[in-house]
Amino acid sequence: MPSFGRAWIVEKNGRWYACFECERGTQPLPATGEVVGIDRGVHVLAATSEGELIANGRLADKHRRIVTGHARALDQATVKDAQGRPTNGKDPQRVAAVQRLARAKEPEANARLDSLHKVAHRVVASADVIGLEELNLRGMTRSAKGTVAEPGRDVAAKSGLNRALLDAGFGILRRLIGEKAERAVRRVVDVGARYSSQTCGHCLHVAAESRRRRRFVCVACGFALHADVNAALEIRRRAQLALTSELYPAEDAGRRARCAA
Ligand SMILES: [Zn+2]
Repeated sequence: MPSFGRAWIVEKNGRWYACFECERGTQPLPATGEVVGIDRGVHVLAATSEGELIANGRLADKHRRIVTGHARALDQATVKDAQGRPTNGKDPQRVAAVQRLARAKEPEANARLDSLHKVAHRVVASADVIGLEELNLRGMTRSAKGTVAEPGRDVAAKSGLNRALLDAGFGILRRLIGEKAERAVRRVVDVGARYSSQTCGHCLHVAAESRRRRRFVCVACGFALHADVNAALEIRRRAQLALTSELYPAEDAGRRARCAA
């Protein structure tokens, strides 16, 4: 019998939902002996060290046309001032148009969240320890690298809405993995991602030149892999290092010195 906390009613896009709060016990999953690394991808939403590429859900064409149609209708129902801000926000026709657009977007958002739940579940079930890329650390390194390595496409891929969507998706994926890991009594290790996209998953050689668009091809040993999967391998290695240093702090000091050298 779960002990219930608060309950509340919310309205979203003209529909009403009842929400209940309750305590959930843990449900430990069987140990796998595995560590998995998850990279916030440049070309995909995320990649795992197992080689799984997690795509950001894309709108089906038919759905895209419907959403575009509602967006256009909203635009036509909107009166704007000189700065482009709507001045008729309370106008019932405009309010209705806002709601129609929001409703049109809902199925897609639901489908995306559902698929992220499934991915998070797979990840948590697959390993005892999950190394996750820390947020907000790599953005700058990556964009700087992108502009030098390939001025055209990589910059576009990272820019604006596309990048914002990928980052939002990765944020949700992180949260879901965290929640499911807690319930399954799995360990999540946050890992700094500096230079992880330039580090060879095989020989650990670090070189910006090894990044070639979607491929990683090590300039030292020739190891070749999807760039985001290679970065996920490095995330996993760092998660393993972090765990080892917890167990054997003194040994780790030596290891860090070697790494720095
Ligand atoms: Zn290498």
